[in-house]
Amino acid sequence: MKDIKSLNLNELKIEMEALGEKSFRAVQIYKWLHVKLVNDFDSMTDLSEKLRNRLKEEYHITNITELEVQVSKEDGTRKYLFGLFDGNAVESVLMKYHHGNSVCISSQVGCRMGCKFCASTIGGVIRSLEPSEMLDQIYKITKDIDERISNVVIMGMGEPLDNFDNIIRFLEMISDENGLNISQRNLTLSTCGLVPEIKKLADLKFGITLAISLHAGTDEKRKALMPIANKYSLDELMDACTYYFDKTGRRISFEYSLISGKNDGTDDALEVAALASKVRAHVNLIPVNPVTETGFKSSSRESVNAFKEILEKKGVNATVRREMGRDIDGACGQLRKRRGF
Ligand code: SAH
Repeated sequence: MKDIKSLNLNELKIEMEALGEKSFRAVQIYKWLHVKLVNDFDSMTDLSEKLRNRLKEEYHITNITELEVQVSKEDGTRKYLFGLFDGNAVESVLMKYHHGNSVCISSQVGCRMGCKFCASTIGGVIRSLEPSEMLDQIYKITKDIDERISNVVIMGMGEPLDNFDNIIRFLEMISDENGLNISQRNLTLSTCGLVPEIKKLADLKFGITLAISLHAGTDEKRKALMPIANKYSLDELMDACTYYFDKTGRRISFEYSLISGKNDGTDDALEVAALASKVRAHVNLIPVNPVTETGFKSSSRESVNAFKEILEKKGVNATVRREMGRDIDGACGQLRKRRGF
């Protein structure tokens, strides 16, 4: 059976026409699935019983299940573990900011990028998520908190650009005015740096923010932390960043996790400042979340502040990420591992 929640409105119209229905039926169904967020055809009360039965024969509706939710007592951050139809599980996080509700979603079950500090990649990749499974993380959380989600960051488990076609469809559908209509300006995609896919994304000219996981300022140091650096050099990555900015007009941001003694020194800060100046990137600094298996330690408060000061002296915008949900399984992939997936 086909996955109806992964079809965009155009495709749904074509499908309805093939079933001998008028194309406005597609708009009705799309609204039920992507605005009213229902998960069964019988709730679609403006469709005839005959059509509903026909839909049941042709399609299934993806409906992920909440296996666990942890709520931070400190800041209201909610971390969800969602079960998928095949017994796999992924994590999503809701963060409440004064400017609105932000959700961090997963794009794959596991990850094959192998970054040394990351818990999501420890067991490799199992599979990529369908567009419907990415949308449903946001839909489930919207229903759970009964509030609008205004921002989405693709920074959970997985490498989104390693699931390119599904991610593109997800970005189109989540920002579709017939769906939840989340502004593309409020969508952020984070990548460890797949250069050809960054260029492909740029060519599509979405208005989304691209975040590059940098984590080191030289190829040598980056290779020690991120295997992808063996495939693409920092020169190639910075060229791709410039290309993205030129095509979309959107500023790049760098994600930089500070690991004690590994990438948090004065030299590191100067190297990062040079790269950020070159592509006019904003830098987000995050003290690394210690993951038992990795043995890396978080930089001290002083080192983080010193790093930020050097960037600012060099004229680079830098923010230290507010640490949210520290009292619940912090780093990505940890809740899933604790539950034995
Ligand atoms: N694969 C994508 C998106 C998922 S990871 C990417 O690499 O960007 C989201 C961000 O969290 C990335 O910047 C990643 O490097 C970072 N990250 C992973 N494990 C971390 C940890 N233990 N502490 C801090 N940041 C971490």
